[in-house]
Amino acid sequence: MSVVVNHDVCEGIGECIEVCPVEALSLEEGKAVCDEDLCIDCLACIAACPVEAISEG
Ligand code: SF4
Ligand code: SF4
Repeated sequence: MSVVVNHDVCEGIGECIEVCPVEALSLEEGKAVCDEDLCIDCLACIAACPVEAISEG
């Protein structure tokens, strides 16, 4: 499972990383990326992102 991060919108501020319960998100070259092997589709990151960069995969 995973979510999709729109890298044209992501500002790399890491709010999503803070709320992810399974540490599926990380920053790569200043943009959030989701590890689909870890993500449990809880969608907490979607609610946490202030610029709506994340959507359901
Ligand atoms: S909270 Fe949104 S803008 Fe910030 S790093 Fe995550 S996806 Fe990017
Ligand atoms: S949906 Fe949940 S588990 Fe998946 S990356 Fe977002 S916060 Fe983490």
